[in-house]
Amino acid sequence: MYSFNYQRPSQSAQAVGAAKAGGDARFLAGGQSLVQAMKLRLSQPSHLIDLGGIGDLAGITVSATTVSIGAMTRHDTVARSAEVARAIPALAALAGGIGDPMVRNAGTIGGSLAHSDPAACYPSAILGLGATIRTDRRSIPGDQFFTGLFETALQAGELIVAVDFPIPQQAAYVKFKHPASRFALVGVFVSKSASGVRVGVTGAKSHAFRWTAAETALSGNFTPAALKGLSIDASDINGDLHGSPDYRAAMVATMTARAVAQATGG
Ligand SMILES: Cc1cc2nc3c(=O)[nH]c(=O)nc-3n(C[C@H](O)[C@H](O)[C@H](O)COP(=O)(O)OP(=O)(O)OC[C@H]3O[C@@H](n4cnc5c(N)ncnc54)[C@H](O)[C@@H]3O)c2cc1C
Repeated sequence: MYSFNYQRPSQSAQAVGAAKAGGDARFLAGGQSLVQAMKLRLSQPSHLIDLGGIGDLAGITVSATTVSIGAMTRHDTVARSAEVARAIPALAALAGGIGDPMVRNAGTIGGSLAHSDPAACYPSAILGLGATIRTDRRSIPGDQFFTGLFETALQAGELIVAVDFPIPQQAAYVKFKHPASRFALVGVFVSKSASGVRVGVTGAKSHAFRWTAAETALSGNFTPAALKGLSIDASDINGDLHGSPDYRAAMVATMTARAVAQATGG
């Protein structure tokens, strides 16, 4: 490690103010991604603003239409929430499938979204449910949030406060996971609600995206059969030692069909 200035404010406004104060400031949430990046010198912030002392950034509220999750809510809390499991069981299951117990007990939804790892699970739910990300200064529609590899629409020093997920009629998340880390080689979150069908995909491109052709196919017939013969162009799909672009493209179709089957009780 190298030296940096560490602060632990007790209010969001103090955290945002500290981020504005100068230098290369970064928020610290669960530290599961940031601390590793710092150890590798991929990130060298001059100021670290620990969000762990800000009580009102964590917590879950469920209304008739929406599940709202505070940015500092740990994955394990979402996974074990009876309210989330009742309202959007697929979201609780997604959180329960992230990493291992240590990662789930430290990692947060805000950190996961701000980091925008191309293989992270939550981004597919943001797109697959049409969620909104609330920050200290605005509300960002999920469809506009993920902009590139580890890049988001967040401005410098912008703090994620909470995420609002509309409650769908049916939903499921299925991932083909990396056997060691549990990150998604390909993960697909599907939902059906009064406003239509959404398909959010993670692991396959530089950032999460919606598979709109599948959404169109599923909108009149929300069954795996509606996807028959549908494939995704492999030309801009990720390829690495774990899977070629063609392999991952095939996995997108397969995981989408499995997610629809699961959402419809098949
Ligand atoms: C072994 C291992 C396995 C994993 N497996 C999975 C997996 O299967 N699926 C999956 O989805 N993820 C997985 N992860 C990632 C995990 O979910 C992390 O929790 C997540 O990537 C980062 O969350 P964090 O709270 O630790 O954020 P941190 O590491 O503290 O921060 C990450 C980034 O977000 C910024 N940030 C944090 N909070 C905020 C905020 N409120 N507002 C604005 N910016 C903020 C930080 O400044 C930093 O840039 C895994 C991680 C590890 C180490």
